[in-house]
Amino acid sequence: MRPILELRDVHRTYRIGESTVHALRGVSLIVEQGEFIAIMGASGSGKSSLLHILGLLDNPDKGEYRILGNNVNTLSGDEQAGLRNNVAGFVFQQFHLLRRMTIVDNVRLPHIYSGLKGDFRQEAARRLALVGLEKRIDHTPNQLSGGEQQRVAIARALVRDPLLIFADEPTGNLDTKNSYEIMKILKGLHEQGKTIIMVTHETDIAAYAERVITMRDGTIVTDERRESPERKSIPAETARFDLHAGGRRTLLQSGRFAVFMAQAFQSILSNKVRSLLSVLGILVGVASVIAMMALGEGAKAAMQQQLKSMGSNLLSVRGGSAKIRGAASGAGAVTRFTVKDVEAIASLGSLVKNATGVVSGSGQTVFENKNWNTNLEGAGYDYGVMRSAIPTIGRWFSREELQKREKVAIIGVTVAKELFGTGNPIGRTIKINRINFKVIGIAPVKGFSGPRDEDDIVIIPLTTAMYRVLGKDYLSGIFVEARQSSGIERTKNTISELIRKRHRLHHDDDSFNIRDMTEIQKMLTSTTETMSMLLGSIAAISLLVGGIGIMNIMLVSVTERTREIGLRKAIGARKNDIMLQFLVESVGLTISGGVIGIMIGIGVSLLLSLFAGWAVKTSIFSVVLATVFSVITGLFFGLWPARKAAELNPVEALRYE
Ligand code: ADP
Ligand code: MG
Repeated sequence: MRPILELRDVHRTYRIGESTVHALRGVSLIVEQGEFIAIMGASGSGKSSLLHILGLLDNPDKGEYRILGNNVNTLSGDEQAGLRNNVAGFVFQQFHLLRRMTIVDNVRLPHIYSGLKGDFRQEAARRLALVGLEKRIDHTPNQLSGGEQQRVAIARALVRDPLLIFADEPTGNLDTKNSYEIMKILKGLHEQGKTIIMVTHETDIAAYAERVITMRDGTIVTDERRESPERKSIPAETARFDLHAGGRRTLLQSGRFAVFMAQAFQSILSNKVRSLLSVLGILVGVASVIAMMALGEGAKAAMQQQLKSMGSNLLSVRGGSAKIRGAASGAGAVTRFTVKDVEAIASLGSLVKNATGVVSGSGQTVFENKNWNTNLEGAGYDYGVMRSAIPTIGRWFSREELQKREKVAIIGVTVAKELFGTGNPIGRTIKINRINFKVIGIAPVKGFSGPRDEDDIVIIPLTTAMYRVLGKDYLSGIFVEARQSSGIERTKNTISELIRKRHRLHHDDDSFNIRDMTEIQKMLTSTTETMSMLLGSIAAISLLVGGIGIMNIMLVSVTERTREIGLRKAIGARKNDIMLQFLVESVGLTISGGVIGIMIGIGVSLLLSLFAGWAVKTSIFSVVLATVFSVITGLFFGLWPARKAAELNPVEALRYE
């Protein structure tokens, strides 16, 4: 017989606060291939401690332990996990089956840590047949009696065809009849050549073994062999074992990863309400990211549409400094433009296609008993074409009407609605600032520009506005249409020079400004950007809070499943396996939250467009971004709980109550 396990003067001390417990005080032991050993002794004598060290669930503080010729002091944690998976099977007093899985899944569990490909259902079913449970393979542990559960645990210990079986009081929780069944199975395994080391404190159970070791106070006091003639010689294949089997597994090895995914979703779904509550933060964060980006994109698209309708070669010349929005705030001089300026600019024929003056003011409009305060715009003849204001219902005013200062008006749809409701305004007479005007057209719908209703407007001929209604002899501004969009800068400079010459202004005088549409666009985008930033920070905060929620629930989950983690480690899970399992679960949670959040976000933006009339546009980019964010949140906040789980000591985890 050659030794497969060899302990030399092994010590194990536990430290609880100030005091220390010497569980093992110099144990030496040689175990040979094919032995059936019972370890006996009073409670607290160190039996389990010894078994844990033999099974690589724990390591000695002092002394040497060789398993299959390997000194365990030189083996890393992962190598020991690999050995447990390959050469050892464990049977515990408390069975340690995973409640959420069917028994066939419980039995094949060691295989996901073996690095071998396949689903191993057949193998598991065969082991279950061996213990007489082939008809119950799709039951869950809760549907089985204690004796049956222990038989499942034995089937699980056998699924990797181990050389060694470690059993810690396997019949401790069973009645006599079930104990007998279990011992019959173990005896049969021994007869097939398995090496079995079993802890028990019952003499009649120990009687099944060939060798009985008795312990007291952390030392071996007796070690008796009973000769048994039928003991098999070592099967030839027993030397088989590979320390590094599965050592080259990649982290995301497909089979294993899929199993973890399935288990993660099973775990998430088995706690539906808790999972939903814990992803609420992520859900809100993602929903607001989606809604925010849909609004931003929608506003941008609407704005571009509007700019296009304004004409892209349009320049706006206004009095006052460009730095102060609007005109005179008392801070500086304001150039007052006249119709002569318009004519001068219009005569720059090679650069300028059209120029028109405008004068703005407010208008009190009255029709019958309704009145409405609106924006009054006095416009030159070319304004209609340049600003796409030619009515589709009714008509624009003629050059003659402009010259004669006729009292004709083109009204925006908002004004039409306020004064006439559903009635036809064309040809009716309204009062603007107490003067009678004839409505000749309805201006095309422009919608909103920021908070401003572009349809709340009345357009009348420039001359009428200046001299009859507003009493101003200067313009509020001039619109210029450049000939080519490429020469915008040059056109602006030329106009600027012209105005400086005409008004005798210094070079650095900023009493007027010229804007083109790109600048106006920039101004508008900066407002929407501010909005986006605001919503973005709300989203970031909810993702942060949501992430902390995830971390919290994952910590709870790790604590709840401490014994499961211990069991998984006992059957060969490495640190990375446990890490991956919990990371997959936390990312699974955040992705689920993210997906619901995306749907709610899209729903909210649709509602906003439907009921509030806001322009929205959900982009694929925002959906991708939200998904990436939820994955990152899951990874980031799942990392700590997952590491905590991975670092657990298998023995302590198994003992956790
Ligand atoms: P047995 O299995 O023979 O009942 P154990 O090997 O479980 O005994 O324990 C031996 C001694 O070590 C006992 O006094 C026990 O209280 C102590 N002990 C075992 N495990 C731990 C632990 N994780 N922390 C502290 N003390 C422990
Ligand atoms: Mg014990």
